[in-house]
Amino acid sequence: MNFLKQLARLFTPSGPPRADDALWLTVECNRCHEQIKARIDMRNDPSPDYDGGEFASAYTCRKVVMGSGQNRCFQQIELLLTFNTKRQLTEKTITGGKFVEEV
Ligand SMILES: [Zn+2]
Repeated sequence: MNFLKQLARLFTPSGPPRADDALWLTVECNRCHEQIKARIDMRNDPSPDYDGGEFASAYTCRKVVMGSGQNRCFQQIELLLTFNTKRQLTEKTITGGKFVEEV
């Protein structure tokens, strides 16, 4: 192992961040058409939806994103996401913008 790798390991005691910890969604503002990346922290953002039971049947997440302001647009885009118990995205709705499908 070379020196740089050792150094990198020193500063990342828990190892590299796991790819599934964050979900990135690209949305487009309805007003100025700016594309904005929304980051969903899969460990903290989704809240359990107990639906009357003892265990969570699903997880929901509400996220509000805004553009950079470079277009003098301060439209708020609200995302409502639903995940199953495996934290897989099952439903997504948006107001103020639209989802941009990743190519
Ligand atoms: Zn906008």
